[in-house]
Amino acid sequence: MDLKELERYFRLLNRSFFVEGIMKKYADLDEPLPIGFGQTISQPSLVLYMTRLLAPEKDSKVLEIGTGSGYQTAILAKMSAKVYTVERIEELMKKAKKRLEELGFSNIYFKVGDGSKGWQEYAPYDRIMVTAAAGVLPDKLVEQLANGGRMVIPIGPRHLQELKLITKEDHGQIKMETFGKVRFVELKGEYGWSGKD
Ligand code: SAM
Repeated sequence: MDLKELERYFRLLNRSFFVEGIMKKYADLDEPLPIGFGQTISQPSLVLYMTRLLAPEKDSKVLEIGTGSGYQTAILAKMSAKVYTVERIEELMKKAKKRLEELGFSNIYFKVGDGSKGWQEYAPYDRIMVTAAAGVLPDKLVEQLANGGRMVIPIGPRHLQELKLITKEDHGQIKMETFGKVRFVELKGEYGWSGKD
């Protein structure tokens, strides 16, 4: 990954474009902000950190789970060949899609649905970025990661999780490393938290 290009685009991308109303005033803060429906846009420094960990290449096919505002999606789309992004809340997805089209991206594919199951149709993916927290590593996402691929995902209890980098080696063996504590909204769905947990 070209780190200089990532940092240049990160500085260029205006976060206020991805939030609404009064939140635009706070867009420059390095804090998560509400985007409606009980969801948040992540803290910019964490978006940058997670993108560096994921390390997408110019020819990477990326799966993103949790489109949210589309902010992280824009950065992934700038740094890779194609991004497949899944969001469970239709209203958030519609707004994110409009923003990303306005920015001129034509390499992003959108799906409303349960991203804890991945997006089987286009698997395997070279990179998987999960921007909501799972209780355990979702099997379906591991299955859809290409050999030699990388996945970044917060895993742990609801109030505080660990940021994990999952690497699938060339022969398919899985390696898991931890990169500090984070706090994300829940990954809901069949391989995430159910409404009843
Ligand atoms: N990366 C986003 C951004 O830059 O704005 C922020 C993502 S927000 C922290 C987490 C998102 O994951 C929410 O929009 C939430 O609706 C979504 N989400 C939670 N569970 C999901 C699931 N099973 N499938 C798809 N999206 C899910």
